[in-house]
Amino acid sequence: MSDSHLPIIIDARRRRFFVIGGGAVAKRKVKTLIAAKAQVTVIAPHIDEAILSLAGEQLVCFERVAGDEAYQAGDYVILATDDARTNEHQARLARKAGALVCRTDEPEDNDFSFPAVVDRAPLKIAISTGGATPALTRLVRDRIEAFIPNDYSRLGQWLESLRLRLRGDGSSKERGAFWRRLMQSQAPDQVLARQEESANKIVEGLLSGQEVTAGEAFLVGAGPGDPDLLTFRALRLIQMSDIVFYDRLVSPAILGLLPEDCERHYVGKARSDHAVPQGEINQRLVNEALKGRRVLRLKGGDPFIFGRGGEEIQQLAEAGIPFQVVPGITAASGCSSYAGIPLTHRDHARSVRFVTGHMKDGTCNLPWNELIHPQQTLVIYMGLVGLPEICSQLIAHGMPKETPIALIEKGTLPDQRVHTGTLATMPEYVAGRDIHAPTLTIVGSVVSLHQTLNWRSGQ
Ligand code: SAH
Repeated sequence: MSDSHLPIIIDARRRRFFVIGGGAVAKRKVKTLIAAKAQVTVIAPHIDEAILSLAGEQLVCFERVAGDEAYQAGDYVILATDDARTNEHQARLARKAGALVCRTDEPEDNDFSFPAVVDRAPLKIAISTGGATPALTRLVRDRIEAFIPNDYSRLGQWLESLRLRLRGDGSSKERGAFWRRLMQSQAPDQVLARQEESANKIVEGLLSGQEVTAGEAFLVGAGPGDPDLLTFRALRLIQMSDIVFYDRLVSPAILGLLPEDCERHYVGKARSDHAVPQGEINQRLVNEALKGRRVLRLKGGDPFIFGRGGEEIQQLAEAGIPFQVVPGITAASGCSSYAGIPLTHRDHARSVRFVTGHMKDGTCNLPWNELIHPQQTLVIYMGLVGLPEICSQLIAHGMPKETPIALIEKGTLPDQRVHTGTLATMPEYVAGRDIHAPTLTIVGSVVSLHQTLNWRSGQ
């Protein structure tokens, strides 16, 4: 883009727009202009039915060649024919009359151009290279589309109505300070999380001169390890936290996404070696939020699946601290996808059951009779130590000993390994190998699909 290109926003209702040409390019421009409430005139010897059918209050069509009488000073003229000489000739006529020209075939000759737009009305994000490289424009647009959720439209509307309500209140300096503090508060994110009531409380607090110090907490699922599997919301909240409490399952790559000045606290959760007791974690979340900080509780997988996330937010709720919960990809989903084992493939299973193989007093206390159903896939979390007992109990309760079983070690991480065998062979297999936590166990006929569907390199 040349340095001389200046992005500006114009009110399309105040100008006349001409589109010269009646084909596909013209149609796209007409649609864009009509959407912006512009008055449009299309002139071309032949105009596609698709354009003619749009004719009405905003659009007039003339099936002829545009003469020099067509344009006036200040008009916007878009040249969209497929004939360069026609475009050039019309550009000359338009400029002679004092109009501005956009040549769809010759961007170097443009007085103005159309940017790509990410529309979150009232917010509009325009992206342009002035025609230099449309491919880059598209790439950036797609990225912004993905990163700015549709909810920004709601946030924009909320802020707009607030601005209209406060228009004229206080001096412009006071208003400036109010908006700065509002935008630095939790209110915008609360609106995005559909917690308008909490956001409105912040507004009222600021208007009545209170310092807004109320903190909040985010209970965020970090997924099984691969940072690419985070949700957009998880990433946003990770990037704006003041303090984080994380456990062993959160991968270093994900911790690398935290802001540099974010205070980090490891709270353990290695098997039977809880670095910090659960009650104390719950209390620390509350205490930090009460200091007015944004507290991130980052947990492996999904916080509500074998994660005790429920207990943590219960205490936050009792203390009246605003919080949000962000789901994560649970180990069962992450590991099965990355191992090529569709948990409910129709030829093999009608249901899937998630259980924990955590041992208490040396045994896994599981409802074995319910687990041996032939059309059911079993996913066992925390089951490595109990694996021999799990296999022998399943066989003892009637599951065929040839039933396939997979052990997924460090699922979704770069050093993921998938071990397969049968209920009869797996205990011995595991005993002879150095297998590292975390591991997830999948039992059932679907495991046989791993042979053909495994799409990741490695085992
Ligand atoms: N809330 C988590 C589960 C916590 S329990 C979730 O939704 O995934 C911890 C157990 O999850 C581990 O013992 C292991 O069985 C499983 N797990 C978590 N991440 C894993 C991974 N990357 N690979 C294999 N198993 C994993």
